[in-house]
Amino acid sequence: MSINRNQIVQIYGTDYKENTILLLKETGLASLIPSVSSRIVIKPNLVSATEASWGATTHPEIVAGIIEYLLDNNYRDITIMEGSWVGGLTSDAFDVCGYRALSEEYDVPLVDLQKAEAVTRDCDGMELALCKPATEIDFLINVPVLKGHCQTRITCALKNLKGLIPNSEKRRFHSMGLHKPIAHLAAALKQDFIVVDHICGDLDFEDGGNPVVRNGIFAGRDPVLMDSLVCRMLHYKPDEVPYIPMAEKLGVGSADLDKAEIRIIESSRQRSGKESEGKTETDPACELPLSRKLVLVEDAVEEVDSCSACYGSLIPALSRLQEEGFLLSGLPDKICIGQGFRGKTGRLGVGDCTCCFDNYAPGCPPGENEIYQYLKQLINM
Ligand code: SF4
Repeated sequence: MSINRNQIVQIYGTDYKENTILLLKETGLASLIPSVSSRIVIKPNLVSATEASWGATTHPEIVAGIIEYLLDNNYRDITIMEGSWVGGLTSDAFDVCGYRALSEEYDVPLVDLQKAEAVTRDCDGMELALCKPATEIDFLINVPVLKGHCQTRITCALKNLKGLIPNSEKRRFHSMGLHKPIAHLAAALKQDFIVVDHICGDLDFEDGGNPVVRNGIFAGRDPVLMDSLVCRMLHYKPDEVPYIPMAEKLGVGSADLDKAEIRIIESSRQRSGKESEGKTETDPACELPLSRKLVLVEDAVEEVDSCSACYGSLIPALSRLQEEGFLLSGLPDKICIGQGFRGKTGRLGVGDCTCCFDNYAPGCPPGENEIYQYLKQLINM
């Protein structure tokens, strides 16, 4: 028996691999896979080359649990695929995030989609470029991290598929306002099963830095429902993340949480009697914090179609300046960022797209530290 599309099952605890296996047994993943010869792809979130404890990338223990479960059920054609964000190399992320070691341990190949051939496909009325290997999958297991995002507010199941498109298309997504192409991508590339890493995602930034420890792992089949749940957990309405209703309209899934069945199962430690009862910091009953670092600083920014890596470097840099007591009001003007400023003039910009401005922090994308140093120097002047 496998879970239905309106069901989400959760597990909390620190034995990540064991808990993942329990979750997959409980949800009956194997009965959803068409045949033992199916080409199964596991798609983690390796946005950048940082360890999972930083709050940005998928814990390798979860992927190890998925692989062990699949091998135990006689599935042998398993691949891990990912394309990191424009600002970093997937090959570095494979090393730093522990996936190279995972690949060697289980003899599961890694596919770096930044090196893959691109193909163009009609994605439910929108033509998009996809990485060719991502179009040759029989069963896709999406393993996103539950995180906040400084442009789209949240990122989880739907947006994680952006790692399956070429870098040039990632930039184009931003020039198209992100939401619509994310929804169309989800309509074209069907995710068959979702395992959400809710261990310690950053609730503000896609690239981590402020991990919030929850030690949770969720499983489900409907990415729209999963993302709607994430919205509720992070104190947003699904409508505040436009790609969710857009994906629902395209038939990707349902955002109706009233019809969802969400339940928590016992962890491996609870089953073995090792975990004491009572409320802990990772108790699922604890609400996630409402505070949003980016709200504090986004007033200082004017953003038009910026890439995640660019904006994702600027906001933490501003946050650092603010924490150090630098008044962002001391800047000569709003900070402009994004492809929408290409060829335009202005006073203060970030990234090569603003190279015609009087002052700009160069780079495509510039790093967080470079932006921080540049702005600090400007404020001091
Ligand atoms: S400089 Fe422009 S193209 Fe380069 S990462 Fe930033 S927004 Fe994207």
